[in-house]
Amino acid sequence: MADQKVTVASDWLAGCAGCHMSLLDIDERIVDLVQLVTLTSTPVTDLKHPAKEGVTVGILEGGVNNSTTESVAKMFRERSKVLIALGDCAVFGGVPTMRNACGIKEALQRAYVETESTVDGQVPHHEDIAVMQDCRAIDQVVPIDVYLPGCPPSADAIWYVLTELLAGRMPELKGKYLDWH
Ligand code: SF4
Repeated sequence: MADQKVTVASDWLAGCAGCHMSLLDIDERIVDLVQLVTLTSTPVTDLKHPAKEGVTVGILEGGVNNSTTESVAKMFRERSKVLIALGDCAVFGGVPTMRNACGIKEALQRAYVETESTVDGQVPHHEDIAVMQDCRAIDQVVPIDVYLPGCPPSADAIWYVLTELLAGRMPELKGKYLDWH
């Protein structure tokens, strides 16, 4: 019965969606997965955030780079029994942290005003627009239970982590599961 299944929610923060693509690369095993879990919310489903009653496993891709991704990370921490940092951006900050070297103001100026194709550009300002922050690994904002590095992590590593958690064990990532290159 669906309500007896383990519940899983995922989202992406400052990332490229590649880690979620790797999750889909478990291929036919996804049929086994949906027998065992209920995917409550993901970036590709209608429901975008885990329900208030929480989920068993939360999966976050990407680092924290603005007020919106920070609030999503905090929401996932509050609503997930086990929170997985999926991929190098989530674990270390990854590629998006390259922006930290030039500064937020300069990055916005470059993106919205100085690009060669821009005419009369301006940096947008609105209360509904997220406030930019230096990009960070998720555990610089909230505690993480399982770190799954890789850019992206392999489908086999993702499958291993999920099946270990489903079996009631904390995954021990080593060997081939860290050999993602
Ligand atoms: S770890 Fe790699 S694949 Fe995953 S979000 Fe970051 S850049 Fe994309």
